[in-house]
Amino acid sequence: MDAQVPDKPITDNDELTRSLRELAVLYEISNAMRTTLDLEHILYIILTSVTSHTGLGFNRAILFLENKTDRCLEPTMAIGPESLEDARKIWEYISHHGQHLDDLIHKEKLDQNISHGTLFKSIEKLKIPFGMPENSLLLTAYAKGKPMHIPQEKISQYADDPLLQAFKTNELVVMPLKAKDRVNGLIIADNLYTRKPITENDLRMFTMLANQAGLAIENSRLYELIKHKSHTDAITNLWNHGFFQDTLSKEIAQAQNTQQTISLIMIDIDNFKKVNDTYGHQNGDIVLKKMANILRESSREGDYVCRYGGEEFSIILTQTNKDQGFIIAERIRQRIAEYCFPKFSSEEHLKISVSVGLAVFPDHAQTKETLIAAADKAMYRAKLSGKNQTCVA
Ligand code: GH3
Ligand code: MG
Ligand code: MG
Repeated sequence: MDAQVPDKPITDNDELTRSLRELAVLYEISNAMRTTLDLEHILYIILTSVTSHTGLGFNRAILFLENKTDRCLEPTMAIGPESLEDARKIWEYISHHGQHLDDLIHKEKLDQNISHGTLFKSIEKLKIPFGMPENSLLLTAYAKGKPMHIPQEKISQYADDPLLQAFKTNELVVMPLKAKDRVNGLIIADNLYTRKPITENDLRMFTMLANQAGLAIENSRLYELIKHKSHTDAITNLWNHGFFQDTLSKEIAQAQNTQQTISLIMIDIDNFKKVNDTYGHQNGDIVLKKMANILRESSREGDYVCRYGGEEFSIILTQTNKDQGFIIAERIRQRIAEYCFPKFSSEEHLKISVSVGLAVFPDHAQTKETLIAAADKAMYRAKLSGKNQTCVA
């Protein structure tokens, strides 16, 4: 009896201490996830929580997200040392500096830790199409929505699995991430370096983290979608007027600091009222959509093609001087003049032209308002000079 009495309270105490620690860890993780809506940062916080010693303490973690457009599971981020030696260095550094989750998840750490990782490079090309045989580890976990723990004694059964071909390990867990009961991603975690067996308790904590992680990812994706929608024009899918104004302000401020030039192009469709009057507004809208496609195809990555208003478009060309800007403006004007828009009722193709104005920062104006006014004025000069031409401020 004597032997049992001191034992029991100690066990309860241990249990209580562990539960309290777990609660504190989950609390810290869920707080961290709420600090941002930026998707990349959220993913970094999730993987740091899975791998840091103040989080769940796994050695390595890889995150796959569902890609609805390409219908596959896609590797998106990975955290983990490259070797045992590398692992020891990192752990020593972290414990020496007493770093907590809060210190580890700063956005600035993201680039230095993620972009160059060899772990991510090793699985970067591992896209798992939904059509693949369902017996693949990742697709099974995705379809069932339940964690899969493959212990050491069973790992050899999965030697041919596409995941294990690229991700060599001794034991692993595949954890589905869920939002409103739908799986939207998976995390694969292991303890390759410490060889610490994955326990029931690890799985329980991981499941709780995964439920929050899935929701945080969903929220962030919705936020990005709404943000994108609020910046684009519904008919043409180009950047809208508000986005144009904000972007031009930012680009001018940046160009001022770096002493760069910006070309601003204003485009107005010639005689568009006649197109509407002849073919109807719906067909007029089709012309606007085609026109938007031509503008997009004629500009470079990094240019901002916007719908300024009605049948007027604007293009911000960063790091572009007057001569380069004029060549681009003329190329766009000519492409449009040559393009055969779909004929609506008549037998003939519809030919449409545009008048273009170009103004350059800082040559013609030093502020956003005066730059827009200068490009607008040049565009009206093109109208008055007979349309279908480009004028420079
Ligand atoms: P100009 O060569 O002088 O530019 O002549 P215009 O007829 O293009 O110019 P005006 O400003 O008189 O007319 C512009 C027309 O653009 C009037 C309006 O009906 C049409 N418009 C503006 N926004 C839209 C739109 O979203 N859809 C359609 N279908 N038409 C639009
Ligand atoms: Mg107009
Ligand atoms: Mg017009």
